This record gives sequence, C-alpha cells and structure tokens, in this order.
Amino acid sequence: MTRAGPGAEIVRENPARLGETVGRVPVADAADVDRAVRAAEAAQRDWRDVPAAGRAEVLRRAAGAVEAAGGTAVLLARESGKPLADCEGEIRFAAAYLRWVADHAPAAYADREVDDAAGRLLLRHRPYGVVAAITPWNAPVILTLLKVGPALAAGNAAVVKPSPLAPLAVTRVLESFPPDLVHVVHGGAGTGRPLVAHPRVHRVAFTGGAAAARDIGAAAAEAVTPAVLELGGNDPVVLLDDARLDDAAMDRLVMASFATAGQVCMAAKRVYVPRSRFDDVRDAYVAAAARTVVLGDPLDPGTTVGPVISADAADRVRGLVTGATRRGASAVALGAVRVDLARGHFVRPTLVTGAGDDAPLVADEQFGPVVPLLPYDTEDEVLARANAGELGLGASVWSADEDRAFAFARGFEAGFTFVNTHNRTGMSLRAPFGGVKRSGHGREYGAEGLLEYVQTCAVHAPAAFRAGGAGMGAGAYPS
Ligand code: NAD
Repeated sequence: MTRAGPGAEIVRENPARLGETVGRVPVADAADVDRAVRAAEAAQRDWRDVPAAGRAEVLRRAAGAVEAAGGTAVLLARESGKPLADCEGEIRFAAAYLRWVADHAPAAYADREVDDAAGRLLLRHRPYGVVAAITPWNAPVILTLLKVGPALAAGNAAVVKPSPLAPLAVTRVLESFPPDLVHVVHGGAGTGRPLVAHPRVHRVAFTGGAAAARDIGAAAAEAVTPAVLELGGNDPVVLLDDARLDDAAMDRLVMASFATAGQVCMAAKRVYVPRSRFDDVRDAYVAAAARTVVLGDPLDPGTTVGPVISADAADRVRGLVTGATRRGASAVALGAVRVDLARGHFVRPTLVTGAGDDAPLVADEQFGPVVPLLPYDTEDEVLARANAGELGLGASVWSADEDRAFAFARGFEAGFTFVNTHNRTGMSLRAPFGGVKRSGHGREYGAEGLLEYVQTCAVHAPAAFRAGGAGMGAGAYPS
C-alpha cells in the first residue's frame, strides 16, 4: 500500500499474514531522485580513480557485512512471502557473488595493450558514471547485487530503486556499501521514471516485467542512455526419452517450478514429456510433490512454498487454472498444506494436464505455483513447441546422455539452458544469464555480466605515422 502526498510512504504488509505490517519506507519524488543522482555522481569522481584492487576490497568487506547483518533473512521472508531457508540461501548466494566479482573484476577491467606491426593500441574499460538499478521483488537481494556489485567494481556509483513490494531487506543489505556511492530511492513507476530519465544517469540496469521494460526502454532511449533489460520467461522443460527420473531428479524438477511459489523468471514453467512415458511421469511428479511441496507460513520450518505476492497475483493464477479446466484440462492439487489458506495470499500448488498449447497457462508466463504437463511425440515437434512464443529466457533438457542433452540444447531459443536440472539449482556464478527474443538483452553473472558496466575506449597510434613508418596518403584507409 502507498500513502500519497507529502511524507508519502510505502507500507509493506506480510503476504502470509494479512493485516500484519512488516515495515515502511518513504516514497522519493523527482527532487529526491535528483539529490541522490547528484550525490552519487560527486562520489563517483573519486571512486573511479581508486585502483581496481581497492574497489574489490570494498566489495569483499560488503560481502562480509551482508552475511553478518542479523535479521535480514527474516525481514525478506516477511515482506516477500518466501520461505526463510530460501531467503537465507539468497543472501548467502548474493554475498558469494560479491566475492566472485571482487576476485574477477580486476582482471576483467584491466587495460589491454598491444604494440605490433600495426601500431600501438590501448583498450581501457571506463565506468559509465551513475548506474540506475531498478529491481523486482521476487529475489530482491541477489537481483540488486548483480547490478551494484559489478557497477561498483568497475568504478561506477549506483542509485537503486527497489520494488515497493519488497523494499525492506534490500535497503538493509545496501547499508553494507559506502553510503556516498550507493543510494536508495523508494517508490513505484513515479520514482523510477525520473531516475531513468535523469540526465546524469549514464547506464540503466532493469529486471522486471514487460510493461515496465517498455516504459523504461522508451525513457532511456529518449535520454540516449543504454539499458540492460532482464525480463520474464516461459521456460520449457523437455524430458528426453532416456531421462533418468529417480526420486532426486523428480524432486528437483518439482521444486524448479514451485520455489518462490513459481514466481521466478527462470522457473520451470511448462514440462514436456514423451507421450509413451506420460502417465509414469505424471504419477512420479505427484509423488515427488508429496515429498517436497509444503505450503505454509514462510517462517515455519518445513515450509517450502509460501504465498504469492498479492491478492491480484493470487486471482490471476487461480484464473489460469479455471480457464484451463473450463476448456477440458484436469487439475491436481499437489503437496501438503500447513496453513489456513485465507490467512494470506496462498494459492494451492497445482499440476495441470490436458491443456492445449494455446491456453494462457502454457503460452504465457504464469508466474505462480501452477504448472502444465504436456505430452509430445517427436523431438523436432517438441523443440518447435518449446520455441513457440516470444519469450526466450531459460530452458532445460533432461537426458541420461549428456552429449545428447547438449546437442538438443543447441536448438533452444533461450539465453540459458540447464541440463538435468532447472532454476536456481542450475545457476553458476561464472555462467552468463539473460534472455533472447522478448526476454530482454544484456547479461548478468560471469565475465559478460561484469562487462555490462564498462565502455571500452581505445587509444591508437598507427605504425604508419611513427618515426620510420611507411606513411600513408592523407585521407586514405589503412590497408
Ligand atoms: P515489475 O516490472 O512490475 O517491476 C520491476 C521494477 O520496475 C519495480 O521496482 C517497479 O517499481 C519498477 N517499475 C515499474 N514500472 C516502472 C516504470 N514505468 N518506470 C520505472 N520503474 C518502473 O516486475 P515485478 O512484478 O517486480 O517482477 C516480476 C517480473 O520480473 C516477471 O516478469 C519476472 O519474470 C521478471 N524477472 C526477470 C528476471 C531476469 O533475470 N530476467 C529475474 C526476476 C524477475
């Protein structure tokens, strides 16, 4: 809820306990955004001259402080509805990412120089200046540090606008960074727009949905500011006919769809199964969910699936299931329920069979705890169905033969293909992640993620014009 007017604030309610206020943050207006950007710009002028090793050391200290700060995971669980163990895992992973950046950034951003028969060429990696980071609520800590970590390592300063749906834990995490270099402004689109359009912002890094991306992309284009856009996905899972479907694999597959109540960009969102194995896989899936899916309060130990983020999200996801069943699909409720569903925005995890490829549950990103299981007959056919649609974030292929899986993976239109797993269990700090098609552009993680925060600038002395050089006609092209 946002209270408007002077002294406006966001009041965040616990999605698992309606009526319980978790915290409040002040809403920043355009003047607040301007102050934050100008303060960041002033601090960046000194920061860019700190040697890379010194900047890396600041990130290492921040990683330690992020881990040491008590209560952040509980705050994140209460504001986002994610199970406490997931929140603890996200914070640990985010700290590990900062250390990875500290270890790899100095080499990635180092000058490169060649001096040979063609002349002398120096390549420098210059920071942009002030980076605007606009982040969603579903994994706010890691998705923010994926931007702030490399931005700072490269010599930029950052102004972060977290989601109004989970602003609290990430604000606490950002207190681990030098306050003059990392600023936080709160609010929704009314705060994000002046930030993106600000003339002293030279790089935008956004993670979120398509509607916001269009608006942000347009504002950034108007200001001629380059923007990284990490958007949604509708990730297909393809089980090949030799996929090993032991209990551990099935448990992994199920939680790839239901972690964070399915509200993950790279969740397993459609599962394609060889028709000949369909009934066995369906039964194994339901059995795996009985072992792994526990819908409950995020703070209760044993809960693996919490509520969805809002009443609107719950209505939308339930509507996808009723829409499919009205057209003849079957819905099976999964796992155990250990909570009064009316106490929060709880949606029962559900497996849907018999949905057509054109059902919104299959064709669009559901972003909730509902997954369709779909039979296929041939590999060519399933690849075409997997690639249908405009989104291309993640995908997975499951096979007992890794070479066969890698060969199949080449056919996916996806930025990241998991093999024999999907979603967070398949992430790697060194592997670049991001979408193709309408899932966005730009990369996070890996060396590619570091390079999003620098521009390569060249200094070149052609050999032809050095003392004793061959020379060249004025205005000629080099041969
Ligand atoms: P959202 O697009 O509603 O909001 C994201 C952020 O943008 C928030 O901070 C919001 O306040 C801000 N915002 C919204 N409109 C804006 C505007 N016009 N100008 C400036 N800022 C604006 O997304 P959400 O609901 O928080 O997150 C869900 C979406 O994010 C899903 O589609 C999901 O797949 C995607 N996502 C993608 C990745 C990835 O890495 N590709 C990761 C996580 C989530």
